[in-house]
Amino acid sequence: MSKVISVANIKGGVAKTTTAANLGVGLARKGKRVLLIDLDPQGSLSLGLGVRKNKELPYTVSTVFQKVINEIEIGEDEGIIHNDEGVDILPSNQSLRVVEQQLDEVMSKEHVFEEYIESVRDSYDFIIIDCNPGVDNLILNALTCCDSVLIPSPPEYLCVEGLQEIIRIVGKVKKRLNRKIKIEGVLLTIVNGRTNIAKDIMNKMEEAYGQHLKIFQTVIPESVKAKEAVANGISVYKQSPKSSVSLAYESFVREVLDNE
Ligand code: ADP
Ligand code: MG
Repeated sequence: MSKVISVANIKGGVAKTTTAANLGVGLARKGKRVLLIDLDPQGSLSLGLGVRKNKELPYTVSTVFQKVINEIEIGEDEGIIHNDEGVDILPSNQSLRVVEQQLDEVMSKEHVFEEYIESVRDSYDFIIIDCNPGVDNLILNALTCCDSVLIPSPPEYLCVEGLQEIIRIVGKVKKRLNRKIKIEGVLLTIVNGRTNIAKDIMNKMEEAYGQHLKIFQTVIPESVKAKEAVANGISVYKQSPKSSVSLAYESFVREVLDNE
């Protein structure tokens, strides 16, 4: 059985992309067949995993949307980049902004991407979608086609608001667009364990949500290695296998597999 996970949060800068990339590569290192989908016009996931010159790519996730909208068949493997760390990537670039607007004119606009996902689902064990921040047609498509939502969030007061908002939106999507959607869990990211504020907020999150919502045991520490990996277009495992951030993402991957 394949699983489709959307990595989402209303806020930017919370490590959605870093988590999508390192979850994907981490699962591939465990022998899973993984497709990573960049659903953010900024193309950070593509760049962060070594897809250079994404502006010039002839085929991106935008092409997939256009083809579904125009009812043109999509061939197996079409537009997919095979990354040398073992994951498949469907990249994106700025053209996705235009698609986002075009969707307003399309019937059942939230269900467009679902058609594509259903056609590739059986080829993978995990499909991971890296969402853009905010609420727009792209994230609604991601939430409509996925099985679960993974919410990365740093333990900061302002981020708690973003967390509440995404939980509210998932609730609405569950009612109207995707009855099977679940929240995979909240992953605490960019954690600076030395500050009392972080510990205080982590405790408050546990108190407020712990009963209803899984908060992953693993927390991802703040580490310069995470930034270096992105700059080099590789995962944290390749950048620095023994670093705290690399070991933390490995442990998180094990938790996701245990969730199965
Ligand atoms: P989002 O996709 O939510 O906007 P990113 O994954 O792009 O967030 O991360 C935002 C910034 O934080 C990037 O510069 C990234 O390199 C950095 N970052 C992510 N995770 C960590 C971490 N564990 N430690 C330090 N910096 C991190
Ligand atoms: Mg991002």
